[in-house]
Amino acid sequence: MGLLSLGTPMHWDEAKKHAHHVRTHGIIQFLNLWEATKDSQKDCLLWGDEVEYMVVSFDEETKRARLSLRVWEILQVLAKQEEDAKLDPTNKQLVDSSWHPEFGRYMLEGTPGQPYMGLPRDLLAVERNMKLRRELARKYMKPNEVPITLTSYPRLGCAGECLDPHYKPHGPAARSLFLPDEVINAHARFPTLAANIRRRRGSKVAINMPIFHDKNTPKPFIDPTIPTFDDYPEDKNAIEQGAALPDHIYMDAMAFGMGCSCLQITFQAVNVEEARKIYDQMATLGPIMLALTAAAPIYRGYLSDVDCRWNVIAQSVDDRTEEERGLKPLKDNKYRIPKSRYDSIDSYISNDPNNKPEYNDIPLIYDKDIYKKLSDNGIDDLLARHISHLFIRDPLVIFHELLNVDDNESTDHFENLQSTNWQTMRFKPPPSKTSPIGWRVEFRSMEVQLTDFENAAFAIFIVLVTRAVLSFNTNFYIPISKVDENMKVAHHRNAVLGEKFHFRKQIFPQSRPGTPATGTPSGSPRVSHATLPHLNRPAGQSQSEEYELMTIDEIINGKPSVGFPGLLGLVNNYLNTLNVDIETRCEISKYLELIKKRANGTLMTAASWMRQFVQNHPEYKQDSVVSEKINYDLMKTVEKINKGEVQVPELLGNFTV
Ligand code: ADP
Ligand code: MG
Ligand code: MG
Ligand code: MG
Ligand code: MG
Ligand code: MG
Repeated sequence: MGLLSLGTPMHWDEAKKHAHHVRTHGIIQFLNLWEATKDSQKDCLLWGDEVEYMVVSFDEETKRARLSLRVWEILQVLAKQEEDAKLDPTNKQLVDSSWHPEFGRYMLEGTPGQPYMGLPRDLLAVERNMKLRRELARKYMKPNEVPITLTSYPRLGCAGECLDPHYKPHGPAARSLFLPDEVINAHARFPTLAANIRRRRGSKVAINMPIFHDKNTPKPFIDPTIPTFDDYPEDKNAIEQGAALPDHIYMDAMAFGMGCSCLQITFQAVNVEEARKIYDQMATLGPIMLALTAAAPIYRGYLSDVDCRWNVIAQSVDDRTEEERGLKPLKDNKYRIPKSRYDSIDSYISNDPNNKPEYNDIPLIYDKDIYKKLSDNGIDDLLARHISHLFIRDPLVIFHELLNVDDNESTDHFENLQSTNWQTMRFKPPPSKTSPIGWRVEFRSMEVQLTDFENAAFAIFIVLVTRAVLSFNTNFYIPISKVDENMKVAHHRNAVLGEKFHFRKQIFPQSRPGTPATGTPSGSPRVSHATLPHLNRPAGQSQSEEYELMTIDEIINGKPSVGFPGLLGLVNNYLNTLNVDIETRCEISKYLELIKKRANGTLMTAASWMRQFVQNHPEYKQDSVVSEKINYDLMKTVEKINKGEVQVPELLGNFTV
């Protein structure tokens, strides 16, 4: 969840008065950091994953699965173990993991204790470490509790029985009709974040995901389970008041989104320019990997017509006012803002000559004063735009104790805005002027998978793609508006097999105009862009020659007929250039095989598999309802898969846990 400062958080009415102060000092802090670290050079790859777990508590008597709200206790033990282990050099196992709180009081986040180094043998440590983390987390849970890596909990917000212990819905932070504030992490930052988003927005967040219409699902679907309260004006009737849309699953609190889990990967680059390049190249893959990892088809007890969590989170933290959303003319606010602060990136940032100005074709909203301040201090146009775009937002949580800090030492105000711009990619400066950590990039779109094997596979695939990108100096650029189109499509049910995505056709640098695609590592001669034929054509025309609609199978596995290698082709070519021993190569191939088969439809995504599980369940009435018993059986099955007690070849292929 980004920075976790301790202190007394301000109510929005007060925080908003300090927004300008936080932004102003945040920029000074960034500039100080920039001066100290802009020439930082690192010589090795360091990278790591973040896996988010939900703690599910089973009641075997009543056959119920609920989310356990005990995570704070579990985290405290884990944190203590981590601290003790750091002091004890013989205790190898425990320093291998690091634990962090998350938004939900039933969630925890685990990372490797140290970033992974080098390639490719070290890749084989990834799954081992993930397994170790799962075991370690389990060790401090009650016998009936299990850590589950599930992107969205199917019955979060269902009346009466989704949480252990049970609390009645409603509370002053979220004011949710479905969830108590006790679902939110108790640390003051989190309920304040939820409350200040609601206060800034001027109403509760309204999340509406299209329902999956099965044979017996009423049409139109008007959800009979939406309660009415009269504590707050917005609660009287969510349907009549227009917050809850017909034919949609309505959710009304931040926890529905930020209570989802994901799989994130962070890489350190050798320097800032390389980080900017990886950021851009990987940004184009955000939607592709979202569709390929799709794992979130069920919300608040209903099958939905989307397979992924992303838009749910985007709507769950949408703090834009009516003016900013364009529902009212601008009066008190400065900008009309097209997107939530949790959304896809709006601009490419690399000074790579392949990054042509026309690819940044989304009109970028940015703070002109901040842009000028950054430019005046030597920040180039693309980076100044990026930062001043992040800084159109207000800081949501300000701690009294941390309002006035030394801008030479602290990066708190910068991080306040940086860490609440939750986008598909994050460009991370070194944490401080003196930190040994370099410039990093975080890949954020992937959904967490049910098993460690799958999570390791996607983490390894992504890190190998970044190596191939650098080695072959690839060019994945397409207009960024097309990446946004891909992002929308990625949510569709079964997008992985049923949809096409814009993707660049010629992804290698061309040694001469018109020469066929090559896969030679960088260092091969490149010509000036002025000699490439498409530059002489009008933008619209040249772009359509540069990219086309492809299936995910084509994007991943290639299109041999036209010499397009696919991302796996790239990765395999890259591995071929290394001296990988046969055993390691075989091990890595197992992971790449999963990616290949998910992309070509031989194996199901977790989303498809869960849909099938529900639809084949004897208790399912073909009415989109995922009942308590179906949910219990699904959670039990997921746990058994992780213990190797149930085989799911349709999901994992030959792989056995
Ligand atoms: P955040 O929540 O801000 O995204 P975390 O600290 O939770 O970040 O996780 C960051 C990930 O980056 C972890 O997997 C960690 O192992 C990894 N990591 C740590 N140091 C480095 C580094 N120098 N370079 C790259 N990755 C790193
Ligand atoms: Mg997290
Ligand atoms: Mg984290
Ligand atoms: Mg974080
Ligand atoms: Mg992260
Ligand atoms: Mg943006």
